[in-house]
This record gives sequence, C-alpha cells and structure tokens, in this order.
Amino acid sequence: MIQEQLEHVEEKICRACERSGRKREEVTLIAVSKTKPIEDLKEAYDCGARFFGENKVQEITEKYPQMPQDVKWHMIGHLQRNKVKYIVDKVALIHSVDSLRLAQAIQSEAAKHQLVVPILIEVNMAGEESKFGVSKEEALPLIQQISALENVHIEGLMTIAPYVDDPEENRWVFQEMKKLSIDIREKNIDNVDMYVLSMGMTGDYEVAIEEGATMVRVGTGIFGSRNYSF
Ligand SMILES: *Cc1c(COP(=O)(O)O)cnc(C)c1O
Repeated sequence: MIQEQLEHVEEKICRACERSGRKREEVTLIAVSKTKPIEDLKEAYDCGARFFGENKVQEITEKYPQMPQDVKWHMIGHLQRNKVKYIVDKVALIHSVDSLRLAQAIQSEAAKHQLVVPILIEVNMAGEESKFGVSKEEALPLIQQISALENVHIEGLMTIAPYVDDPEENRWVFQEMKKLSIDIREKNIDNVDMYVLSMGMTGDYEVAIEEGATMVRVGTGIFGSRNYSF
C-alpha cells in the first residue's frame, strides 16, 4: 500500500513539474512519517524514500538509530530551545525556525559539535492565529539577525498553508512565499541562501509545485491517515 501511494504521489509530482515547466529534480519529496511505526518507514525506504519528516524531537531520536545511515531527517515541527541538543547532529534540515532565540540555541549546540546546521525560516503567510511562524514583514529582519550566527545557515523559507477543501484557495499563499523568497534573495545577505521553498502538503502539494516549491512535505498521501488516539 505504501509503495502504491508513493508511486501515485511521484506521478502527481512529475505531472505538476511538467505543467509548470520545471524539472523533477528541482523538487524534493519529504515523506512525513510522524506517528507512524518504523515498519512503515522501512517500507517507504525500500521503495526509495530517503527524506523523512518528523515533528517531534522524541520521534526523531527513537527512529534515528533504527533506520539506515543514508536517511535524511527533516525536523518540520515546532522546536523547543531546550530540545535542540537532542537532534542538532541528527537532522539534515530544520524547517521551523521562527525566532532569534531558537536560532541562537541551534547556534550554540551546533558550535559544540563543530557543525553548520541548515535551517529554514517558517513564515505564517496566511496569518493564522493557531500557527507558528513569523509574518511576511518579520521575515527579513529575523533573517538579517540570524545571518550573523556562524554555525547556522539559512537555506530558504517554509510555510504551512491553511487547511482548505480546494487547494486552489492556497495558490496565493504559495505565490506570496515565492515572491518573498525572491525579495530576500535580492538583498544578497551574507551567509543566507534562498534556494529552498518548503511548501505543500498532501492536500495542496501540486499547486505548491506549480508555484515554485522545492520541497513538498507529504504524510497522509504516502502513509495513510494518522491515529492520534493512543
Ligand atoms: C504533518 C505535517 C505535514 C504532512 O501533512 P499531510 O497533510 O499528512 O501531508 C507537513 N508539514 C508539517 C509541518 C506537518 O506537521
């Protein structure tokens, strides 16, 4: 079942790339495996998945030793400063940085390991109260501050678009994210790159790709619905 779902998602990614004149290699699929048992991750791995997204520190530390070394772990959920130390040397990218204090915590742990940790700035483009992330206006000043941290490297932006019935309703969000990333790139800030745009989930990743996503985070579409009741 995971294999079929993955193939289905892969096909939709290919078609969205074709529609928008992009190459398939420009888009990385992050398999969001939160709440899922290790067997499911292994099945996805055997089908070729190498990028896994988790939103809890504890799930990353539990799953990390059980999966092959070439898996790239992506932290996509809200991260508490006191938990940075548990994952700083295990993750390929932290998608969810939305404050200087969090970036400073990552800096100090990264320095201890002599690492440069790649991060994205989370933007709450639709201004939803329930969501983490900085506003569109706060993004540039925050990025300027974080750029001074030597063991942290900003690679781009991330957003979680609103939950909608029709993915077209989120097209403007993805368009605004693309514009914001271009505006920031044009500032040519030292130690800041803007080649990653992490946007699009199961309900709207095709629209996100059409509007420039370079990473899509797909959970339900690959692993099926999540059960939070236990
Ligand atoms: C859970 C989650 C996803 C995946 O959501 P689906 O709708 O299941 O594809 C993507 N991004 C973040 C930040 C998440 O927490």
